[in-house]
Amino acid sequence: MPTATRFAPSPTGRLHLGHALSACVAYDLARASGNGHFLLRIEDIDSSRVRPEYDAGIIEDLQWLGLHWDGTILRQSERHAAYQQAFERLRAMNLVYPCFCTRRAIHAEFASMGGAPHGPEGPTYPGTCKRMGCEERNERMDSGEAHAWRLDSQAISNLVGTLSFEDQRHGCIGVSPELLGDVVIMRKDIGVAYHLAVIIDDAHQQINLISRGEDLLASTHVHRLLQAALKLPEPLYHHHALLLDAEGKRLAKRMDSLSIRQLRDSGREPEELLNQIRSFASL
Ligand code: GLU
Repeated sequence: MPTATRFAPSPTGRLHLGHALSACVAYDLARASGNGHFLLRIEDIDSSRVRPEYDAGIIEDLQWLGLHWDGTILRQSERHAAYQQAFERLRAMNLVYPCFCTRRAIHAEFASMGGAPHGPEGPTYPGTCKRMGCEERNERMDSGEAHAWRLDSQAISNLVGTLSFEDQRHGCIGVSPELLGDVVIMRKDIGVAYHLAVIIDDAHQQINLISRGEDLLASTHVHRLLQAALKLPEPLYHHHALLLDAEGKRLAKRMDSLSIRQLRDSGREPEELLNQIRSFASL
């Protein structure tokens, strides 16, 4: 099977150097394999943050960089039926539960516990709504109270057993279901959350080599659990190093990090920029 990689930006801002690195790594991995495909997926599920001009900016910047994608662009905003179907399957398997907690209630729970188990992305959900009796749960759902849906990490782990994933840079990694805990897979406000949408679309686009920044390494543990429960194919992974500024802060987190458009407007040439990115990626 030919290698298929993807670049999956969210149109919530202009692309910056960190994005160009991700796109370039995915592009090069596909091209290096000879007959591979490099696909573009626009992750525009968060309707409260996406803007059409950022969507157009992604296309403009990739074209300027010369990172041409194959086939048509997939937009997540057009895929809600597929996400809903996957969610219903998880629900039928009793792998999810509704969560009525507000952010404030979760923090109050952490405080009353005198701390909480810490994952790489902060404290993991303390399981408040998992312990809720079915009567109260049904009543609150019937009354229309807003709720998210969380993945029951214990239940899914019991179902799928021991798992691992193979990463081209990090080797074979054993999946830890408790690393991110009971993550939200359907959000209260916008519906499907990143973890569910991403595995459905990677399978749909037949991506067999997923490259992305190593800030998403922890998420891959959740993705493998979901893939196994939904019987989706297991891709190979390549989590690349992140570009940091002089103080060691991630570029993506910096509001003032230079966008590709600004670099272009300041006279930088795409080839020179990509050479610089490639020499970083090969370190
Ligand atoms: N949309 C995600 C982001 O921009 C990409 C996630 C992924 O590559 O899996 O961070």
